[in-house]
Amino acid sequence: SPKPMKKEENVLSKILRIVPEAKHGLTVSLGIGLVYEIVKFVPVILIKIIVDSLIEGSTIKALSYLVGGIFLSYIVLTIIDFVAKRLQFTWTHEYDAAILRKAKKKLLEMHLSFHESYNTGEQVAKITKGAHKLSELIWFAFNEFIPTSIQLILTVILLIYEQWILAFIFGIFLPIVTWLSIYASKKVQPYRERHHKNYDQAIGELGESLFNIATIKDYVQEKKQLTLFNALLAKYLVNAKLRNYYAQTILFWRDMLISIGRILTLGVAVYMVLKGIISPGSLVLVYSLTERAFLSTYRIGRLYYYLEDALESINRLAKLFEEQPLIVDAPGAEKTKTLQGKIEFKDATFAYRNEKPILHNINLIIAPRQVAALVGRSGAGKSTIAKLLLRNYDLSEGNILIDGRDIRSYKLEDYKRRIAVVSQNVEIFNRSALENIIIAKPKASRSEIIAAAKKANAHDFIMQLPQGYDTIVGEKGVRLSGGQKQRLSIARALLADPDIYIFDEATSSLDSESEQLIQQSIFNIAGKKTTIIIAHRLSTIRHADVIVVMDDGKIIEKGTYLALIKKQGAFAKMIQLQEISGIRK
Ligand code: ADP
Repeated sequence: SPKPMKKEENVLSKILRIVPEAKHGLTVSLGIGLVYEIVKFVPVILIKIIVDSLIEGSTIKALSYLVGGIFLSYIVLTIIDFVAKRLQFTWTHEYDAAILRKAKKKLLEMHLSFHESYNTGEQVAKITKGAHKLSELIWFAFNEFIPTSIQLILTVILLIYEQWILAFIFGIFLPIVTWLSIYASKKVQPYRERHHKNYDQAIGELGESLFNIATIKDYVQEKKQLTLFNALLAKYLVNAKLRNYYAQTILFWRDMLISIGRILTLGVAVYMVLKGIISPGSLVLVYSLTERAFLSTYRIGRLYYYLEDALESINRLAKLFEEQPLIVDAPGAEKTKTLQGKIEFKDATFAYRNEKPILHNINLIIAPRQVAALVGRSGAGKSTIAKLLLRNYDLSEGNILIDGRDIRSYKLEDYKRRIAVVSQNVEIFNRSALENIIIAKPKASRSEIIAAAKKANAHDFIMQLPQGYDTIVGEKGVRLSGGQKQRLSIARALLADPDIYIFDEATSSLDSESEQLIQQSIFNIAGKKTTIIIAHRLSTIRHADVIVVMDDGKIIEKGTYLALIKKQGAFAKMIQLQEISGIRK
């Protein structure tokens, strides 16, 4: 039928779109497969000749040539197989690695909002399973699909040539058997889909419970988590069982049919020998040919079933590869080494994805080397301003200019290198303290790193770690406190030596000593480079050149500390409130 043919075609182009490298391996394998399958017919034909020679009477010499010929073809087959397997084994692993490499590259170039909309565990499951299934499928193509298809075609040709009646019988069974294989695969499709979905959900759930393990332990949720997980696994099992049940039932009848077909051809062949239509040697040849042909249809059916199964995972992987990053270099984007640091928001409006706008018509100018403080209640849009400056997102309307140029006109990589951020959620890699800092400037010397750590007030605590700068911190090493993480992150930023600093201060959650140390290191920077501080504790921004008060995505006040106090507006009220709560503390 034309439909599965079309699908097959799509699969190949889909595979080649994900791993174009496989084209080479598949082509070479096709060539090797053709030679191999042709050689495989040599012993079958020689046996026919041996049988007929034995019956008709033949010399020892002639027979030993024939046996020698069989032996020779076996050796050739073994050598071809050895070479092919060796190549294919390497190729399969290379393709697997290539897929993983491409997946990582794709994930890294995708914009932040893409990642925010996915469950990490599910994403990882999708990639590893997709890569595995795809390389396995290519392995199958090398070892099963290509050889079996060639074999089937050659067998049918030889069968027609040898005895067309027997080829005709086989020709009746072939479409029925093939149809049954396809039918089995289609029938189980819904169960297969659910089975895969349940599996991914279970893995996603497993990942999530590990990410949030502390909360689970704090709230004694272990049993509940296990029940939830077991329920997902139970669903997975039910669908797996149903899938197997239906597939096996249909395949049982298919295999019965194959047996009937084999016996029928054998019966007819025996009858033909009795009637003297064909020789006993031909009977042997025809029997081994049909035996093989039926086996091939069986194998192709199994392959089709496997293909449909793998396709589930491959399609999802293909979808990932089709995703396009939103934040990319504009055509003709300009290279840049340094920035003056003048920041300007011009009628800037922004909405996350397709939600309602979070920032409305922001207009703001920060002069080079100025310190600007952003204040306002949580949810006002302060961090969003930082994310926009970092080009984690692009504006919906309006412009952000740096040194008078739209930030979208700079080369993304160059531009981002000139801005450093210290955010509330510092991400620490599971590497040494030194490696955690050096990220900012991979070529930095040890003394540069130590200098940055000193300026960030991180040096002292790092020296107290068991192996100093070489102590592994993060997941598998020494855990750092919130304040320590933040100081490490400041050292990172200092090492990068950017033209613009952004501090998304979370000092309110720190002890007062840490807070002071961090304040001090920010103070070290202020005045030298353009600095934006997102401040929660208002006492810390007294010396800012400009304080920008935000509310509900708008700037409601702007000015120096004293000017804003004098104005007796929103900022003055916030100061009052904080002083009162400060006294209560
Ligand atoms: P602030 O830093 O002033 O506390 P934010 O800039 O973090 O405020 O958030 C401003 C608004 O944007 C909030 O209503 C918040 O819910 C929303 N928001 C923040 N990040 C995202 C995001 N990734 N996707 C959708 N909405 C977001």
